Amino acid sequence: MQLRRIQRERAVDAVYDALQRAIVSYSIRPGTRLNIEELAEKLGVSLTPVRNAIQQLATEGLVEIRPRSGTFVATLTVQDVEETFKIRGALECLAAESAVENLSSNDIRLMKELLESLRKPVPDDDARQIHERDNGRFHQMLVEASNNRRLIEMYEALNAHIKIARIHAGDSNWQSRLQIERKEHETIMAAIEHHRLADLQKALRKHIYGAKDHLALALHERERQMVAS
Ligand SMILES: [Zn+2]
Repeated sequence: MQLRRIQRERAVDAVYDALQRAIVSYSIRPGTRLNIEELAEKLGVSLTPVRNAIQQLATEGLVEIRPRSGTFVATLTVQDVEETFKIRGALECLAAESAVENLSSNDIRLMKELLESLRKPVPDDDARQIHERDNGRFHQMLVEASNNRRLIEMYEALNAHIKIARIHAGDSNWQSRLQIERKEHETIMAAIEHHRLADLQKALRKHIYGAKDHLALALHERERQMVAS
């Protein structure tokens, strides 16, 4: 019984990983209709793990389940990015109000370690994933230090990190953005260390709005390429 349950969970995770990777890397294109039977056959699993994995992808906004119509790979538009990042900016600035007082010296040490890791070169896709994960953690720590459960839930529901990963896959201008991000992170960290709220909010807004503009541009470029191909 126990063993069977573990195996089933593993199948869901494996299917989820395979589909998430395929969607984020654009090997399954936005707008593609997903056929559960076909996916199960291709992946060599039963229907249940595929259904469960699709549910999970739907909560992350990667898949859209349209009643009476089907399941589709969600499209990501410039408007989605604009909306997501404006809310993200507002939530992080709000979190900063409490975080600037709540972050302990240990939190600050951990955040600095993340920034240290974000300074490393990013030669390939694996390094890029690690970079995005550490960047996500850095911002997550700030948001969690608000100690505001509703705020944290709203922030997580934005799934900003998944949108970033989708756009960054194959984005050739990404390396140039890295240098700017590193400097912006340092400004954010300095404001946290000196408990300067106004400086922190200003730095966060600049960082998040800068990311928004870069991502919108990269997405626009991707859309142009897809139309052309
Ligand atoms: Zn960042």
